[in-house]
Amino acid sequence: MNLIEARALEVSYGEIRAVRGVDLAVGRGELVCLIGANGAGKTTTLKALCGMLPARAGVINYDGAPVTGRPAHELVRRGIVLVPEGRGIFARLTVLENLQLGAYARRDAAVAPDLERVYDLFPRLAERRRQPAGTLSGGEQQMLAIGRALMSRPRLLLLDEPSMGLAPLLVQKIGDVIRRISREGVTLLLVEQNARLALAISDRGYVMESGRVTLADSAQALLSNPQVQAAYLGG
Ligand code: ATP
Repeated sequence: MNLIEARALEVSYGEIRAVRGVDLAVGRGELVCLIGANGAGKTTTLKALCGMLPARAGVINYDGAPVTGRPAHELVRRGIVLVPEGRGIFARLTVLENLQLGAYARRDAAVAPDLERVYDLFPRLAERRRQPAGTLSGGEQQMLAIGRALMSRPRLLLLDEPSMGLAPLLVQKIGDVIRRISREGVTLLLVEQNARLALAISDRGYVMESGRVTLADSAQALLSNPQVQAAYLGG
């Protein structure tokens, strides 16, 4: 059963029709990626799914019920959490404070075990928990952004370009971490310009071009699709 699905989704910025009738779905426990060139509409799609941008047309269903038009703060409480491109961490707060902020929307008090889980996933963050987040490297800041999102116990994690600007070794590491989060039961939708990484770790993928989904298939099939290879995998 699908945890989230969009049908005929359209999103605009004024006159600019960034998303033009997109159908996509992510099943419970699935790891799905959305790939495509710069400006294809990937980020806009993610923002619409988490309520940060309004749908101009179409429907979004989450957990079996329509959520079209619901505000982002409500969707966060219901488990839809976005890790934005550019990370959005608080540079002057410590690593620990950033992680604690991730749990702000929760009503339970059991934050300590989740902190341990994040530190287990990212030992670097444990070592640096008292440091201002602004002193971390780009890769560590990306880990912190993902760790902060995990602190809110997401059911659906939306990751926007987690590999952006990272050195190759760290790209591999982020990929490993995303798989591990997936194995622990979180449903994931991953937007990536690094199509090779995204397809290597995902179950299924969608290709977006000019605001539309042009291909939808298993990640394996997309990796061996000559069209995808030519356009997104460097031949
Ligand atoms: P990128 O990898 O660069 O983020 P993308 O596939 O995520 O690309 P979007 O960021 O969703 O693409 O952009 C889709 C279209 O919407 C583009 O034509 C872009 O110029 C336009 N767009 C994005 N954000 C805005 C905005 N805030 N105001 C106006 N137009 C925007």
